[in-house]
Amino acid sequence: SETLTVNGLAEKLHKDVSEIIKKLMFLGIMATKNQDLDDDAVELICSDYNVTVEKEIILEDTDFDKYRKEDDEQDLIERPAVVTIMGHVDHGKTTLLDSIRHTKVTAGEAGGITQHIGAYQAENDGKKVTFLDTPGHEAFTSMRSRGAQITDIAILVVAADDGVMPQTVEAINHAKAAEVPIIVAVNKMDKETANPDRVMQELTEYQLIPEDWGGSTIFVPISAIKGEGIDELLEMILLVAEMEELKANPNKAAFGTVIDAQLDRGRGAVASLLVQDGTLSVGDSIVVGNTFGRVRAMVNDLGQRIDKAEPSTPVEITGLNAVPQAGDQFLVFTDERKARQIGETRQQQHIVESRGSQAKISLDDLFEQI
Ligand code: GDP
Ligand code: MG
Repeated sequence: SETLTVNGLAEKLHKDVSEIIKKLMFLGIMATKNQDLDDDAVELICSDYNVTVEKEIILEDTDFDKYRKEDDEQDLIERPAVVTIMGHVDHGKTTLLDSIRHTKVTAGEAGGITQHIGAYQAENDGKKVTFLDTPGHEAFTSMRSRGAQITDIAILVVAADDGVMPQTVEAINHAKAAEVPIIVAVNKMDKETANPDRVMQELTEYQLIPEDWGGSTIFVPISAIKGEGIDELLEMILLVAEMEELKANPNKAAFGTVIDAQLDRGRGAVASLLVQDGTLSVGDSIVVGNTFGRVRAMVNDLGQRIDKAEPSTPVEITGLNAVPQAGDQFLVFTDERKARQIGETRQQQHIVESRGSQAKISLDDLFEQI
């Protein structure tokens, strides 16, 4: 925490430094004016002036960035792209997600029952793509407002019989703000009233210009309901993914984001996580948002129990002390005590923050008011 010298304390209390030194001496602390005071000494002096001190919780110590190591280029390997499907209501987002799931998800031995864990992985030519199940702009707004960036590529679904609508524009703006490349899926091509040229024309206004017209945006005509154009769309996603050079280091403690979480009567806190870096393993000590725990069990999008999850893999875990929030980030700590310590601090911070206006003021605030 921020240390305070005798002089500093005197200034904050608007007292003479010699007066503070005298008080310290009285307490058995021999100090010069430039000496750092420990928290106990500060508290003792303050209580003498009838000033209560609330210890400030240090944000730095719980900041994940502090515990994540830089990677050497040689440790990075290719990882699957994480894709979000966006677009105007009724333009076919859900139908497209279902269609990809049915045609491109290799069913598990258990009978092919896929789990809805907020995301799933599809496969094309042996290469994986991770699709977020959450409607696009939610994924962008709620996650981004919490600092999480999980999408690598945005699929903009535009119904060929309807064209660019308000939420289409909203989606474009979200993707652009996040600097995420956009692939346009011109949907409902099976309809007689489909007019893909109009869609392309309208989108030029937003700098989404097809290659044929001198631009660089990929347009894929599809019919989500008939499953047409899905292969081509997947191919284009893989192409863009390759250009983006998406990489991660699987040989380190996992880091990622909560996609979804809820309380299950039997299993306790259940969280769907997207592993973005490192490898998540059963037994890992993990801090997730304002909670923590140990990964007790892990299930993939096919409902299969797994004990390891590599970068870009969505998983569902149990073992957390409380239910985190979508958009919360998580980090694994090799030292269990460290995880607990950081988890508990974050929990406390959260309680203090959510007390809102009733929150006890911090040391600094307090002194400001004197
Ligand atoms: P969302 O609101 O973007 O998720 O749109 P939905 O996937 O719920 O689709 C809205 C409506 O459009 C539903 O009635 C779908 O059956 C229909 N729909 C979606 N894709 C297609 C398509 O490719 N062709 C046709 N004809 N209808 C479609
Ligand atoms: Mg939908």
